[in-house]
Amino acid sequence: MPANPIKPTIPLDADGKHHGFLRLPYSRDDSAWGSIMIPLTVIRNGEGPTALLTGANHGDEYEGPLALFDLAYTLEAADITGRVIIVPAFNFPAFKAATRVSPIDQRNLNRAFPGKPDGTVTEKIADYFNRTLVPMADIVLDFHSGGKTLDFVPFACAHVLDDKAQEKRCVEAVRAFNAPFTLMLLEIDNVGMYDTAVEDQGKVFVTTELGGGGTATGTSVAIAKKGVRNVLIHAGIMKGEMETGPTVMLDMPGDDCFTFSQNDGLFEPWVNLGDPVEAGDMLARIWPTERTGEPPVDYHASRSGIVVSRHFPGLIKSGDCLAVIAVPQGDGAGG
Ligand SMILES: [Zn+2]
Repeated sequence: MPANPIKPTIPLDADGKHHGFLRLPYSRDDSAWGSIMIPLTVIRNGEGPTALLTGANHGDEYEGPLALFDLAYTLEAADITGRVIIVPAFNFPAFKAATRVSPIDQRNLNRAFPGKPDGTVTEKIADYFNRTLVPMADIVLDFHSGGKTLDFVPFACAHVLDDKAQEKRCVEAVRAFNAPFTLMLLEIDNVGMYDTAVEDQGKVFVTTELGGGGTATGTSVAIAKKGVRNVLIHAGIMKGEMETGPTVMLDMPGDDCFTFSQNDGLFEPWVNLGDPVEAGDMLARIWPTERTGEPPVDYHASRSGIVVSRHFPGLIKSGDCLAVIAVPQGDGAGG
C-alpha cells in the first residue's frame, strides 16, 4: 500500500498542547502546489489512553464542530492524563462548503472507508484516519446530526456487534455521553462507514445524532459539550465529575423502523420528534404540487414506538427518508 500523503504539521506524541493541521496536498487550478489544511489539536500529558474526537464527518452537521472547536480552545494538558486528538472538521472541504459530501469529489466521507492513499481527496482522508489515527486511539467519538435534510431527537448510539465484550464497552461509553436518548442503532447500509472501520479495529466507538436541519440549537450544543467531557472522564483521560441526567434507552429492532417516501411533493408532518406513535398512526401526508384537486398520499407508522427522526425540508422526493421510529427498551419487540 502506498504511503498516505497527509502530514500533520504538529507532533502527535509530544506532551503539551499543540494546534496545527493535517496537511493534505491538493494541486488544483487556484493553487498549483496547494494543500487542504484540516484543523488539528493534539493535547498530551504523559502515558494514558488516547481519545480521537471528530466533528463534521458530514459538512452540514454543527454540534460536533461547535463542541470540538470549543474543547480544543479550552482543554489544557494539565486537565488530562493520556492524549486527546481533536479534528473538529473531519471532512474539511465539505464543512467549508456547508455540504454533506465533499464538493471536490462528491464523496460521502462516511461511505469512503477504508479509503485509498492514492485515491480522491475524501478517500485519502479516510485512509489516513483508518491506518494512522484510529490505530492510535483507545476510544473514538464521531459527532453527527441530521444535516440539512433530516432532524433527530438528540441521541448517542452504539451498534450491535459480534464481539459482545466490545459492544458492552461501547454501550458503557455511549451511556456516559448521557444524551437525552441512548440508542442501539441499526444502519441501513454500514459498508464504507467510519463507524464500521473503527469497530473492526476493536475500538470503543461512540457516535451521535444530536439535531439537524443544517444548524444547531442552544440545547443541542450543550448536549454535545457535556457529552464529550463525560466520555473523556469515562475513558480515564479527563479529571472531574461526570454530569449525568436521565436518558431514554431505545432499540431499532428491524428495517420497519424506517419509512421512505415513494412520492415527490409537499411534506406535511403529522407528528413531532419525540412523539409516541402506535402502528398505523399517521406520520405524514405528501401533497402533489403540480395542480390543485389531486389527493394527498398518507404515510402511516409501520410499528409502535417513538419518532426519533423526520425529513426536514418542506419538499420531499421519492426515496427520501421520511421518518424513523425507535422502540423504548423493555417494550417487547426484542433487539
Ligand atoms: Zn452525519
